[in-house]
Amino acid sequence: DVMVELKRVTKRFSGTTAVNEVDLTIRAGEFITLLGPSGCGKTTLLRMISGFETPSEGTVLLEGKDVTYEPPYRRDVNQVFQSYALFPHMTVQENIAFGLKMKKVGRAEMDERVRSAIAMVSLAGMEARKPTQLSGGQRQRVALARAIVCRPKVLLLDEPLSALDAKLRHSMQVELKQLQKKLGITFVFVTHDQEEALTMSDRIAVINKGKIEQLGDADAIYHRPKTTFVANFIGQANILHASVVAREARQARVELEGGLTLTTSEELPEGAERVLVSIRPEKVWIEKERGEGDNWFEATIEDELFQGPTDQLRLKTDGGLTLSALVANESSRRTPVHAGDRVWCHLHHDDIVFVHED
Ligand code: ADP
Ligand code: MG
Repeated sequence: DVMVELKRVTKRFSGTTAVNEVDLTIRAGEFITLLGPSGCGKTTLLRMISGFETPSEGTVLLEGKDVTYEPPYRRDVNQVFQSYALFPHMTVQENIAFGLKMKKVGRAEMDERVRSAIAMVSLAGMEARKPTQLSGGQRQRVALARAIVCRPKVLLLDEPLSALDAKLRHSMQVELKQLQKKLGITFVFVTHDQEEALTMSDRIAVINKGKIEQLGDADAIYHRPKTTFVANFIGQANILHASVVAREARQARVELEGGLTLTTSEELPEGAERVLVSIRPEKVWIEKERGEGDNWFEATIEDELFQGPTDQLRLKTDGGLTLSALVANESSRRTPVHAGDRVWCHLHHDDIVFVHED
């Protein structure tokens, strides 16, 4: 079932194109995340779904109905804002009941729905408090409860966790995801935080300069980035120039700088001679001895950076190619290697991914 459909949606403000010909189909009950750097157009895209912004061009459909020019209150959509926007003079109970009062929902039903929303976000016992008597996380929950109490078909969340500290943010990520599954509401979640997107989403739309660069589940976005932007924005990547030296049905051989030749099982871009490859640093396996198969090469560890659970190694091949690798930190490392050592490096065929330049 399709819940939201954007068709070639563009939004221009004087001089800037905030959203540029976006096509996006969101399924009912899906948790979809719009991920991208600040200024890439996430909020503008969300506001066109809620109706606070009208597209310059294109169409917005909700459950197949054209709502492009419908005001927000005519759409079955609710938005949770980054700033929470709670009413300071109202209690938790009153804040959450507000939307239902506006809709003139009867007293008994209102009480029941507010009670269940409060329970859902674990705020029982806090009904009489004012927003100033709550922590950041509790205020966030009130904002959420206020949105879900209206039982919208779609809930739009614009960086709802960005004001919280790391620990609380992580626990809220888990809670929010569980809540979404329980309620079955379609969530359109906005964040600039790649980890948050990878943890929470059924699908992620990676946005750059007003365009969707890639749409897919967390696994595809992380392991199969299509562009240098996606590879670099989500995690770290070695982006390397290469030329194609041989191509077969399921394999290609490419030559990197310094004469390093590698075999990849990724699909080669049609007709390409010069290509770009992306290799995740944690996919560079480091051993003391050469192992079986191909894609082994020697390198020197030039330096070693402590990063907590992992160490980052800077490797230099004999041909002069520099690569970054991530390994378990020194005390838990399987193969004891150190700065200055000569080592054998190994890459699996499907960890060498072709990417397009942006
Ligand atoms: P994000 O939420 O990803 O940070 P926004 O959607 O807020 O991005 O903004 C995208 C671009 O559109 C930015 O360049 C921003 O300055 C511009 N923009 C957003 N809203 C307006 C507005 N009301 N008037 C003019 N420019 C705007
Ligand atoms: Mg924004």
